[in-house]
Amino acid sequence: TKLRVGLLFGGCSGEHEVSITSAKAIANALSIDPNPSKYEVVPIYIEKNGVWHRGTEAEAVLESGQPLTVTGEVIPSDRIPNPATVKDIDLWFPILHGPNGEDGTVQGMLTLMQVPYVGSGVLGSAVGMDKIAMKMAFSQAGIPQVRYQAVRRSQVWSNPCIFPKLCDDLDAALGYPCFVKPANLGSSVGISKVRSRQELETALDAAATYDRRIIVEAGVEARELECAVLGNDYPKASVVGEISYNSDFYDYETKYTDGKANLMIPAPIDTAIASKVRDMAIEAFLAVDAAGLARVDFFYIEKTGEVLLNEINTLPGFTALSMYPQLWSATGVSFPELVNQLIELALERHTQAA
Ligand code: ATP
Ligand code: MG
Ligand code: MG
Ligand code: MG
Repeated sequence: TKLRVGLLFGGCSGEHEVSITSAKAIANALSIDPNPSKYEVVPIYIEKNGVWHRGTEAEAVLESGQPLTVTGEVIPSDRIPNPATVKDIDLWFPILHGPNGEDGTVQGMLTLMQVPYVGSGVLGSAVGMDKIAMKMAFSQAGIPQVRYQAVRRSQVWSNPCIFPKLCDDLDAALGYPCFVKPANLGSSVGISKVRSRQELETALDAAATYDRRIIVEAGVEARELECAVLGNDYPKASVVGEISYNSDFYDYETKYTDGKANLMIPAPIDTAIASKVRDMAIEAFLAVDAAGLARVDFFYIEKTGEVLLNEINTLPGFTALSMYPQLWSATGVSFPELVNQLIELALERHTQAA
């Protein structure tokens, strides 16, 4: 009998659309040999307002690639699955990017249900999502990173006003350019590259609209490398890829507009650098207790030969054109085989947890 895979997509996050595209690619991979003889896909869609759908609506979203338009009042219990409609799901494949899905929330619910699911558990997801917690874990593991400072929304929107002092301190500690980021997001949403005190103030205010937790990082001039990790307790690293673009930085528009970014796989770098990146990718994966999959992003400062860890993404973009599956394909693991291995890793982890 086939394993019934609940493909969980959409989600209450700014990366909703990306998730639909990722889910489409995974559903397609599950329908390519040898997967269809092993798995039956059940699409389960989370609307932007958090409401769960199984059946016709979910299938229609997957088919059309268009989100459902949010209508009507939502009661909190619509934001969890109706037990009766998911009792036949054998294994869950969450492909949700950003808050409410990549951050341990959905993983917590699946853990409570005691069902196998693809990817990191609660801790790995949560630490991997929050850039402040992530950087603390990396720094504890001795992995080199850019200089940074954590900021709370309450400091930005402070009363009495400590905001000028905060900006003075950031200014002195990090200089310009610096990057201001909401701590719990992805796809560069809410991120600003800042070149002056005036821009710093505007950027902090903008980031505060997205998150209570904000991070400000010293800007580096660097090449951008990415490495894909696959496994549980003995994770493996893929070949290294590079991203190039003509924009100011790798922002949302550059990420999702056709032709604006160029992926080079493998990256044209020395084998010694590639091997350092692969080792650091595995260290980063272990430092946050990730599982199954993660894409690890780096800065490579060519002048000095330095490699700095930027971040980990525990549910990276998974469209046919995304870096994660492309890195594995260049390493010899095809897209359908990758999906198959992720499901096997989920089953392995579930068996160990029991
Ligand atoms: P993802 O979509 O990969 O999850 P994200 O939203 O988590 O992205 P980051 O990877 O932290 O965001 O940053 C997005 C981009 O901003 C980087 O790829 C890089 O182009 C630029 N950037 C971020 N931080 C720095 C920095 N400290 N110095 C230079 N460039 C930076
Ligand atoms: Mg990220
Ligand atoms: Mg991300
Ligand atoms: Mg990134």
